[in-house]
Amino acid sequence: MASSSLPKYHSLINNEFVSRESEESTTPHDDLYIPVINPCTEQVIALVTQASPDQISQALDSTVQAFSVWSQTPIEERAACMNRLADKIQENMNELAELESKNNGKTFFESIGDVDECCNTLRYYASLAGYVQEKLDGRVNPHHDSEKWGLSNRLCYEPIGPCVGILPFNYPLLLLMWKLAPAMITGNSILLKPSEYTSMTALVLADYIKDIFPKGVVNIVAGYGYKMGHLLTSDPRVKKISFTGSLATGLKVGAACLPTLTRCSLELGGKSPIIVFEDCDMSVAIESIVGGIFANKGEICSATSRLLVQKSIYQPLMDKLVEKTKTIVTGDSLFDKTVTHGAQVCKIQYDKVMNYIEIGKKEGAVALVGGGRPEVIKAQDPTKGFFVAPTIFTNVTPDMTIWKEEIFGPVLSVMTFETEEEAIRLANDTKYGLAASVISGSDERLERVGRQLCVGSLWLNASQPCLCQVPWPTRKQSGVGGAELSTFGADLFMELKTVWKKL
Ligand code: NAD
Repeated sequence: MASSSLPKYHSLINNEFVSRESEESTTPHDDLYIPVINPCTEQVIALVTQASPDQISQALDSTVQAFSVWSQTPIEERAACMNRLADKIQENMNELAELESKNNGKTFFESIGDVDECCNTLRYYASLAGYVQEKLDGRVNPHHDSEKWGLSNRLCYEPIGPCVGILPFNYPLLLLMWKLAPAMITGNSILLKPSEYTSMTALVLADYIKDIFPKGVVNIVAGYGYKMGHLLTSDPRVKKISFTGSLATGLKVGAACLPTLTRCSLELGGKSPIIVFEDCDMSVAIESIVGGIFANKGEICSATSRLLVQKSIYQPLMDKLVEKTKTIVTGDSLFDKTVTHGAQVCKIQYDKVMNYIEIGKKEGAVALVGGGRPEVIKAQDPTKGFFVAPTIFTNVTPDMTIWKEEIFGPVLSVMTFETEEEAIRLANDTKYGLAASVISGSDERLERVGRQLCVGSLWLNASQPCLCQVPWPTRKQSGVGGAELSTFGADLFMELKTVWKKL
């Protein structure tokens, strides 16, 4: 499709879409637009306009101004807007899910699940209106002796202020919602910045948002993080940065927040273990291992990418695991309904995963299955699409790169252990501490081992469930101040205040 005939998506600022079409004759195309590339076909399907520095500044002004209005808007009205947005998303679920798959490469089935969870997230946070109102009203401090001092004392919460939410590419709509919904119910305005690879659906959502929320309460700006990130993270009027992304960028965002002491929460990466004991139910183990690493083509922060299996069941488990992995169908789910595994989000991510696979082989690991482009894709079109075959590496040692570093793709590394102590030591031997999974038939063992794993989220005989109603804590280098997506996380968009009053 010629570039001029492609659909264009623009940033939403103060409830208006702002284009840069007037600059087309004076500014290089690459400075104005980001091509939206379908990862399954490699076709450019749309253009996203990069917000200019001036536009970002307008978006920040708008977010700051809207805060005073939104924070004073009755909480029932705030909740009503959120429920209306949920209704609108639900009405357009199929369209949104199709666009999400076209932009991100995940299967349509996975996209539908994400969009559905967006609605749940909005409705869940809207349902917390009473809980949040109680927090806003505050409670009498039970430790203060009012009569003695002639002063009452109350502790209450307030919304933080204008916020910025910076998003990764792996769950474009859902992660946006995990920031938007708690910020909205607690009375904050928010400026959202989707990933440069996956801005399209956020800007479709923007079209619904502008008809539902007052001006400036939600602004969405598109662009490359390396170009515009500092503008978003260095404005002293922004009271909180909520960042989800890689450890490397998280460190930059954290550093940018330091000079202004801006509150920031960082939801970062992982290299999460899954420990399988010999007393496990084999089918539970296989389901958890496969879902834990190959769902969403391995682009999950908490993907259980390190498998620790007890030596005594190594062979039967691996036989079943390989057999199951071979049933995964890679391809474009929008054209083939049997597809269960999509494409990596972009060329850079594809190359990165392929590079890790090569490093794994060079360092002596052995790919039992996968290990490159899927055979089925090579047979159809050997060059097109960012497809990586679900890959399982054995012969792995703890010093190998593929055991230590987050790959963020469908690559599982396997090691064996003999004792519980050894399994715990190997599992904890990582710079990350996001999540872990333990599979065993013994409840005592599940508890005992689980307690000793240094992670924020722990799954016992499962892997990956993650819901907005449940806190999402992080440890070690997986982040700080996380848990946006929880009842308690809503507090992260609130500030505590103590109020003294003369009796
Ligand atoms: P990334 O760090 O490359 O980018 C994330 C966002 O930061 C993007 O919007 C990007 O444009 C922006 N950005 C880049 N440079 C910036 C800067 N200097 N200042 C401000 N913003 C900047 O991450 P990604 O590759 O998009 O996502 C994958 C990573 O996200 C993985 O490491 C994954 O584990 C992590 N992740 C974590 C969670 C969690 O909850 N812990 C959830 C999803 C993804």
